[in-house]
Amino acid sequence: MVNIRPSELHDKLIPWYHANRRDLPWRNTKDPYCIWVSEVMLQQTQVSTVVPYYRQFMIYYPDIPHLASAPEEDILKRWEGLGYYARARNLLKAAGEIAAKYDGKIPDQWDLFRSLPGVGDYIASAVLSIAHGAAYAVVDGNVKRVMARLFCIDDPVNQANSHKVFSVLAKAMLEKNDPGTYNQAVMELGALICKPKTPACDRCPVSSLCGAHKNAKTDVYPVRIKAKKTPVREMATGIIYKKNKLLIIRRPSRGLLGGLWEFPGGQIRNMESTGDACIRTIAEKVNLNIEVDRLLTRVDHAYTHFKIKMDVFTCEYISGRVKLNGPMDFRWVSQDSLTRFPFHKAIHKFFPHLIEVKNRCKMRQNS
Ligand code: SF4
Repeated sequence: MVNIRPSELHDKLIPWYHANRRDLPWRNTKDPYCIWVSEVMLQQTQVSTVVPYYRQFMIYYPDIPHLASAPEEDILKRWEGLGYYARARNLLKAAGEIAAKYDGKIPDQWDLFRSLPGVGDYIASAVLSIAHGAAYAVVDGNVKRVMARLFCIDDPVNQANSHKVFSVLAKAMLEKNDPGTYNQAVMELGALICKPKTPACDRCPVSSLCGAHKNAKTDVYPVRIKAKKTPVREMATGIIYKKNKLLIIRRPSRGLLGGLWEFPGGQIRNMESTGDACIRTIAEKVNLNIEVDRLLTRVDHAYTHFKIKMDVFTCEYISGRVKLNGPMDFRWVSQDSLTRFPFHKAIHKFFPHLIEVKNRCKMRQNS
């Protein structure tokens, strides 16, 4: 491993950060709430996507009391499109705990803050170092990549058991007087200069220290283990129309996409046609007999650990009363009111096709 003294790194990196950092809305404050919300949004999501969501979120929920008293469905609506909805649900739960146990003040002690829902090592380190100047080193994808290249680390960045190596190193390199600035500087270097595929070493403030650059191995580091092929699930979904209303259901609050709305359907079994799967899964989940009308569209969507291929059908209500088996709620709604509900991204992908359903409803009404 390459040897770099912490002070050498700080002396080059921190002035560069002050001169080049992006002016982001959460960077002009030390308010732990603002920093926390931004860091939660930034996990798994790009800065350019987060900025408008963050601004809007802060208008509606400027502090812990506003957030803690908000209905979950409202939070999910504001989060709609940002993905990884467990982040939003946990933020809400944590705000509730802070309001109840800590008089609305975000705890500044590691153990207390780290014990809140959704607060892992990364969030705790980022918030406590940036807001309170506490000496905790952040370790995220950017930090790992920068460290792997600077020090020529052979441990794969995407292997769980090598996390410790990066965490020990990040701690050893931390600038203790202003750890928040240092943490942000490493992450900013990773985001702006030391990019995954095309590191801009010619513009890098730490290139004279960097092992990968000096040894012409920027394409070797960071080492990654080959990811397994992502499994694909085949799904069928039905847009059931009854007079001029559509049936939507709400997913259970726990688990993937918890609390979000969707149209009923489910996974296709082996050898089953997608139309038959649509009829079967709707009967199983909402106890309705339907007839498949036509295939509206096919949607491909990727989640972290699997992908889906979803056939979306328009369906005719035949008989039955809704009885839920799995979903936590349902509504018969007009198409115009769909925008009031938070839906997940795969559903949004076929929203433009719903205009066809609307036209069909109009024709039926007029006939
Ligand atoms: S010199 Fe190149 S590889 Fe090394 S840290 Fe800078 S951008 Fe990354």
